[in-house]
Amino acid sequence: MESANVSDYISQFKEKIKGKGEESMLLPEKFLICVRCEDGVKREEGQTPIPGEGIPNAEVMLIGESPGAEEMKSGRPFQGKAGENLNRFLASAGLDRSKMYVANTTRCRPYKETVRILKDGTKKITKSNKPPSQHAIRSCATWLDMEIDLVNPKLIVTLGSTPLKRLVPDYSISEVHGTLLTVPIQHAGEKEDSREFTLSEKEYHVFPLYHPAAIIYRRELQEVFEQDLHKLRKTVEELKLNSVLL
Ligand code: SF4
Repeated sequence: MESANVSDYISQFKEKIKGKGEESMLLPEKFLICVRCEDGVKREEGQTPIPGEGIPNAEVMLIGESPGAEEMKSGRPFQGKAGENLNRFLASAGLDRSKMYVANTTRCRPYKETVRILKDGTKKITKSNKPPSQHAIRSCATWLDMEIDLVNPKLIVTLGSTPLKRLVPDYSISEVHGTLLTVPIQHAGEKEDSREFTLSEKEYHVFPLYHPAAIIYRRELQEVFEQDLHKLRKTVEELKLNSVLL
C-alpha cells in the first residue's frame, strides 16, 4: 500500500461514489491511502478507508463504530442493512439522516478470517466483522477529530459503546444511553499521527445511543432504544437544531 499511487486511489474513490450524494470529502486526499493500523493493511485491492459524509456544517453528527463489508464495497458509511436500519430508526423519531454528517470511529473494516476445508479438500475463507482494536481506534483518532473540528456539530450522537468510549471514556453506555452529556471530549494530540489523547477545552453536547445493529441481536433493547430515540428528538428540539427535523 505504501507505494500506491494516491491519484489512482482518489479517482477510483470518486468513481465509486459518483452520483450517490457526496462527491467531496472533508479529509485530505492522503487519507485514502492510510495504513496506520492493521485494518488498513488488510484492506482488499481497490478499497479505501471510508470517510464521513453528509452536510459539511451539519448541526448533528452521528458517529458509529467501523465500516463493514458493504461500506468497504460502496466507499460510504452506514450502507446496506445497517444504513437502512439507521435511517428507519431516525425517521421513526422524525429525524432526517440526510441533513446530518455521518462518520465512524475507525475507517477500515476490522475482520477475522475463518478457514474451512470443504469435502473436496478446497479451502473456504470466511470473513466476519469484529470490534476495532484499541490500536486501530487510537490510530484513526486524528481522522475523526479532523472531521469533528471541520463540521463543528452542535450535537454529537454516538452509536454504541466504541465511539462513546473514544470520546468520553469515563462513561459506560449502559449508564448514560438516552441522556444528554455536556462534557469535554478526548482529542488526539497535535501531531498528524498522534495516538495520545487529551481532553478538549471546549464542552460538547454528546447524546449516546446503543448501536442500531445491537438492537437486532438483542431484542430486549428495542424498547429502550425507541425511548432513547424519542429523548433524542426532544433534545434536538430543545437545542433548536431544526435543520435535522423531518
Ligand atoms: S487508521 Fe483508520 S483509516 Fe488508517 S488504516 Fe487504520 S482504520 Fe484505516
